[in-house]
Amino acid sequence: MKRVLGFVKLAVACTAICALATLAQNPPAQEVHGIAVTNMDRSVKPGDDFYQYANGAWLKRTEIPPDRVEVDVFTKLADLSNKRTSDLIEEIAKSNPPAGSASRKVADLYNSYMDEAAIEAKGLAPLRPHLEAIAAIHDKQELAHALGETLRADVDALNNTNFHTANLFGLWVAPGFNDSEHYNAYLLQGGLQLPDREYYLSDGEQMRNIRAKYQPHIAAMLKLAGFSDTDARAVRVLELEHAIAQTHRSLADNEDTNKANNTWTQADFRTKAPGLDWTEYFRGAGISPVSSFIVWQPEAFSGESVLVASTPLETWKDWLAFHLIEGYGGVLPKAIADERFAFFGKILSGAQEQRPRWQRGVFVVDGFLGDVVGQLYAQRYFSPEAQAQAMVANLIAAFRQRIEGLTWMNPATKAEAEAKLSTLYVGIGYPETWHDYSNFEVKADDIFGNLWRGDLAEYERQVTRLGKPVDRKEWSMTPQTVNAVNLPLQNALNFPAAILQPPFYDPLAPAAVNYGAIGSVIGHEISHTFDTEGSTFDAKGRLRSWWTADDLKHFEAVTAQLASQYDTYKPFPDLSVNGKQTLAENIADVAGISAAYDGYRASLLGKTATTQDGFSGDQQFFIAFGQNWGAKTREAMLRRAVMTDPHAPDEYRAATVRNIDAWYAAFDVRAGEKLYLAPGDRVRIW
Ligand SMILES: [Zn+2]
Repeated sequence: MKRVLGFVKLAVACTAICALATLAQNPPAQEVHGIAVTNMDRSVKPGDDFYQYANGAWLKRTEIPPDRVEVDVFTKLADLSNKRTSDLIEEIAKSNPPAGSASRKVADLYNSYMDEAAIEAKGLAPLRPHLEAIAAIHDKQELAHALGETLRADVDALNNTNFHTANLFGLWVAPGFNDSEHYNAYLLQGGLQLPDREYYLSDGEQMRNIRAKYQPHIAAMLKLAGFSDTDARAVRVLELEHAIAQTHRSLADNEDTNKANNTWTQADFRTKAPGLDWTEYFRGAGISPVSSFIVWQPEAFSGESVLVASTPLETWKDWLAFHLIEGYGGVLPKAIADERFAFFGKILSGAQEQRPRWQRGVFVVDGFLGDVVGQLYAQRYFSPEAQAQAMVANLIAAFRQRIEGLTWMNPATKAEAEAKLSTLYVGIGYPETWHDYSNFEVKADDIFGNLWRGDLAEYERQVTRLGKPVDRKEWSMTPQTVNAVNLPLQNALNFPAAILQPPFYDPLAPAAVNYGAIGSVIGHEISHTFDTEGSTFDAKGRLRSWWTADDLKHFEAVTAQLASQYDTYKPFPDLSVNGKQTLAENIADVAGISAAYDGYRASLLGKTATTQDGFSGDQQFFIAFGQNWGAKTREAMLRRAVMTDPHAPDEYRAATVRNIDAWYAAFDVRAGEKLYLAPGDRVRIW
């Protein structure tokens, strides 16, 4: 899901890795191989509120643990993944791996994160050389060089849909829009600590409250790092970020790939975005030889460059210092780490406590050395490879039939769609090749340096790839990630091992349940191949319009209907779901469940499905789908997701059953019930 064309929640939600507390409050193992009847609230009419019907009892008895911002099926499985990964790390550490080996790096990275006493003892020493370098910046030319030095490969526009970097700009290395056979450099807007421009620009009470607390937080962080006059500095830093936010493109516009295909040579930066010394910027970033870039948001590059010229040097230096302290605050002395959590964990996300340190340590290892652990994870915990392959093949067949059967689509467009399906690479469980971390130096007693070098090593790994041929089978998720993803520029899907397990996938459960749960996820990812974004890429991953004008018109009309449907949902009286921002994911949900339903019916081979607790096969299929989305989320986190996540909140994802005819028949849903849509108002896309 998440990420962006991905299927699950955003990275912001995923970073909230799940704790064992969830395991303790839910039954530890799925004894029933089928839908979780004990999670349902059968007093609710399915036609009135399908989400409550499928999940109501679970919602009633579930509390969000103090260190969590959300609890759902994904976090529950992520807890399991996290525990297993932690066991693997412990085993690796005990085996005393040889110096320089990847295993040694895992052990040293984890142990250096866990050693809080060493972090306290070092105090601000790790920060000092970096702060001194910032203090020594004398003019805008040196500033441009220093800004270039902050560039990292920390954004991902299409695979994991991460548009946020706190650095001035972010680099994404991926197959080119216009040359998908080679890796190209994409540059994205950045410069904000808060998650999105809306946090700075919205007049809503919630956002005004957050800004009111952000300014003292900036001051506190600077003070803890030894700065004087911190209130005045904080005011100026916030003013600068506010001005940067005004230049930023909105999330809904970021998702429009046609607006993103802007090739700039280095000379173009100087004419189209004057103000920043681009020669120095690229030199600082170590990418002077790169001749052209795809600039995702040209107006932000122009706007931010003007701000480099017009804002006093001292303000930029404070901005750089604050961003450095904030970025590494989690591995600095406790007073700084606590201040950071008090703002980003509590105020921005609603968590009451930090996650236990070992869980955060596992997250660090996953982030920097994920494939080392992932390789062991896949060997030990992934078995149902053949069955999962078969299910994916059935889903692709169901999708192919749906496309062939469309009455509105021209044969020429169908042929292009068919070409995309037949060349789709589907990765199941784990990748065929693993990342090489040999350029990442890890020291046993230096967590700050480890993270610094880890970010830099990943950046250098990505820069080294520029211009080289694309490996279409490369993965963008680790096997231990509970998620799935569509990679449009590679025409590829990844289904990691960690999502191919109960309750999503259980080889002992009836077909109805597996198709409703994981089948709808697989269908969701396949359909991204043809959604508002996917339909702009051809079978080779090139950004090319392959739709006839008529077909596109029909597609746009129907998808506009779906956007309107989601615009009506209001999680809070003052905040609606944004139908445009969540459109691609909502299309994928409708398409995914439609194809999964076909796949399930085909799997019956004409026989009647067995019932479970009186539920028919069709009912089990839809309930299993609805139970994918059972979730409890803190208000701050949910508001943040509504504003920054390309996915709609879970309860509305469950409600998309109202677009499926078979759901009406399965539950005898009648006109007058709250989710009822007349047949002509149901959105049918694929
Ligand atoms: Zn998706």
